[in-house]
Amino acid sequence: MLNIVIFGAPGSGKGTQSERIVAKYGINHISTGEVLRAEIKAGTELGLIAKGYIDQGQLLPDELIIDILASTLDSFKESKGVIFDGFPRTIAQAEALKQMLAERGQEVSIMLDLDVPEDELMTRLIKRGQETGRADDNEETIKKRLVVYHSQTSPLIDWYKNDGKYQHINGLGTMEGIFAEIAEAVDKI
Ligand code: AMP
Repeated sequence: MLNIVIFGAPGSGKGTQSERIVAKYGINHISTGEVLRAEIKAGTELGLIAKGYIDQGQLLPDELIIDILASTLDSFKESKGVIFDGFPRTIAQAEALKQMLAERGQEVSIMLDLDVPEDELMTRLIKRGQETGRADDNEETIKKRLVVYHSQTSPLIDWYKNDGKYQHINGLGTMEGIFAEIAEAVDKI
């Protein structure tokens, strides 16, 4: 089983690189952000709750997102592994993921930290907002999301270093160049 956590600040390229990883390694993909955006689009109760947090650039409560993750994980049959994109975002989520995988006789194989300078993140996200119309890609909400990343999510770097799973990836450069560094790290597992 190849269980990859793809990590990084908003705009670091997690979604883009996840697509390439899925294509090369044939594993399932869970993006908690995409699950939530689909719920919003479908107008569900969960979508309504999620929208309140997303529009403010805040994280959803851990219990809620952990439940969503567990049911998505259970929906995969005969999986070769999973890429976790946008999850975990807090230490509590990382601990829950570790436990969930352990209950299935598995573990995280590697955590890939896509490292991108802050000014580049802002430029990429503003551009994505203009191109896709994604509601939380506006300057005010991006700033809030970056504050949340630094306070609640970046502590996971040390958490995964302690867990022996951490791999730094230079997230600046061409999509192909970044993916080559990822594939080299994954192939070494
Ligand atoms: P993303 O598409 O990963 O950038 O996520 C968009 C938004 O969805 C985030 O800013 C959060 O409001 C929410 N979200 C996505 N994943 C999580 C998570 N693991 N924990 C809490 N909130 C999340």
